Amino acid sequence: MSDKTIFKRIIDREIPATIIYEDDQCLAFKDIDPKAPVHVLVIPKKEIPSVSHLETADAALMGHLWSVIPRLANDLGLEGGYRVVVNCGRDAGQAVDHLHFHLLGGRKMTWPPG
Ligand code: AMP
Repeated sequence: MSDKTIFKRIIDREIPATIIYEDDQCLAFKDIDPKAPVHVLVIPKKEIPSVSHLETADAALMGHLWSVIPRLANDLGLEGGYRVVVNCGRDAGQAVDHLHFHLLGGRKMTWPPG
């Protein structure tokens, strides 16, 4: 039994996903259970379990992800706006222990989030 997370298995092409973007540092693919008309997950290829595990050395990688996210939003036609969500830990609803950014759009969002 593999101890890889499901997202690491997607990175390694062991399980399928609808990948919409990839470079040497990150991967973006459609969420399997979308919560909005556009729901994409943007993940670093580096195995970082959560925001709480980020280190100073990850600053450039995080900067890169934050440069990819608005480009993807633009490519996905989210001119009207979008939301980026990062769940950290069980109380926040994090289910997969590989850092991921939810890019959500295509509908009006409500605030505060649940
Ligand atoms: P979180 O609850 O923040 O950890 O988010 C995990 C997300 O991963 C959820 O929105 C799931 O729908 C999504 N997910 C789980 N398995 C897959 C998969 N095999 N392919 C794409 N998305 C997935």
